[in-house]
Amino acid sequence: MTTSNDRAFDGMSNEENPAESGPDASRLRPMNILEQIAHLVRNCTDCPLSGGRINAVPGEGNPQAEVMFIGEAPGFHEDRQGRPFVGPAGKLLDGLLGSIGTNREDVFIANMVKCRPPDNRDPAPAEMAACTKYLDRQIELVNPKLIVTLGRFAFGRYFPGEGITKARGQLREKDGRKIFPVLHPAAVLRREELRPTMIEDFKAISEILQGKIEDAGMEPGVTAPAAPQPALFSFMDAPGQAAVSTAPAETSFVNVEDAPQPEQLTLF
Ligand code: URA
Ligand code: SF4
Repeated sequence: MTTSNDRAFDGMSNEENPAESGPDASRLRPMNILEQIAHLVRNCTDCPLSGGRINAVPGEGNPQAEVMFIGEAPGFHEDRQGRPFVGPAGKLLDGLLGSIGTNREDVFIANMVKCRPPDNRDPAPAEMAACTKYLDRQIELVNPKLIVTLGRFAFGRYFPGEGITKARGQLREKDGRKIFPVLHPAAVLRREELRPTMIEDFKAISEILQGKIEDAGMEPGVTAPAAPQPALFSFMDAPGQAAVSTAPAETSFVNVEDAPQPEQLTLF
């Protein structure tokens, strides 16, 4: 189905944006297009969730982030503020980021759907399908070294039909991207006994970004996809970085050398 915003995506070329030409083009381009995506999201009516929102929540963070977090959907507070993870689950996420020496300005945070489902119900498959074009493009533009999925819906984007409880804490690869599934912070708030697991998984994120974890558990039968470019893992040098332990026993890894490039997106 071609929707109004699908057409807007198609029509959005760099030539139409004067700020994207000239010597600063390479520096400006990612942020400008991310802002254009946010603008499209705020005006989007491509699924019924648009009818119940106060504010759409496009996502935010460093346009050159090494790690991108994908949550589920905005909740009450996010809908009020138009920003991701600003309620209780967001406070926990902030603390977890701090525990590995980073913060929300250094990473990029987005959701599977950009508008709050009524009564915080689960996002419907059709809503996620309608909204995925924005997240797809954000991922392509930010091009993170690592995608951390928060909870089962974001995990299901990459590995449908698998359980998050079993999969969490294992570095995976899909379509040339490193995917690290963790629990949803809201689940940790509901079940305090999950907190140590979450802290352990965040330590593993830090290790992955430092290159201490080179190889991740490969999908059975999948040939090694291309590892992202060698990275400047700048945020790991941030002051206050937590001491990092050796890899947790439950963390398993796959070889990501020689991986295929992510599919070329045709949007824009
Ligand atoms: N839970 C999510 O999945 N995303 C948010 O932005 C806030 C809470
Ligand atoms: Fe558009 Fe996504 Fe909001 Fe649905 S959830 S209206 S597809 S931005």
